[in-house]
Amino acid sequence: MKFTLSLRTWMVLAFVGIIISLLSARLSTKLLPVSDTSPVVVIDPGHGGQDPGAVGANGVYEKNINLSVSLILATLLPQKQLTVYLTRSNDQLPSSPPFTTLRDLQQRVLLSRRWHATIFVSIHTNSEPTGTVQGPIVYYRSGSPLSLALATNVSQALSTLNGRVIPPRPIHQLVLEQAGVPAINVEVGFLTHPLDQSRLVNSSYQTQIAQAVSLGILHYLRRGQ
Ligand SMILES: [Zn+2]
Repeated sequence: MKFTLSLRTWMVLAFVGIIISLLSARLSTKLLPVSDTSPVVVIDPGHGGQDPGAVGANGVYEKNINLSVSLILATLLPQKQLTVYLTRSNDQLPSSPPFTTLRDLQQRVLLSRRWHATIFVSIHTNSEPTGTVQGPIVYYRSGSPLSLALATNVSQALSTLNGRVIPPRPIHQLVLEQAGVPAINVEVGFLTHPLDQSRLVNSSYQTQIAQAVSLGILHYLRRGQ
């Protein structure tokens, strides 16, 4: 399918690209473990590489939004108190080729287990056919009270963005179920909703989302110590 992008859209995409590059450069020196006992937060930006995830009406790829929010989130979490890992920190899938969704998800689980995650936080962007649903939704590993507690903290922090709390929703997802630790999937908004889509490519809105997720994570970890 052919997409025609306005000059303004190109400028926004270019700006987001620059931010991602800058954050990637900063992160490369910040991902070493702080101590053997600090909680380990594994951030999992969904999709990547040849797997774009959802695609917005003007050609915005979910994978890029997921990565931008995740990179900002990683820089906001206090590096002196936590060990933070990303399953990907650029536009490459964590799994080696050939790509299949199953192999990709299994590699993310393997990394989380290898890094001895305390919590596992996937970042994704939603889509649905009517184009009317908007806002962030936090999904948690079905049947896991600690995952629900983590999701509740993050949901409450995200409520400052739209003035209402959307209750966390249980879900059966391979990465969440096999991570072996409290696990959530933060769907940061809907690419199929015009307002959400315009906000989700904006770096200051991405920062607001990341700040809320960071606050929710810290709240959960402090209560759980
Ligand atoms: Zn996704």
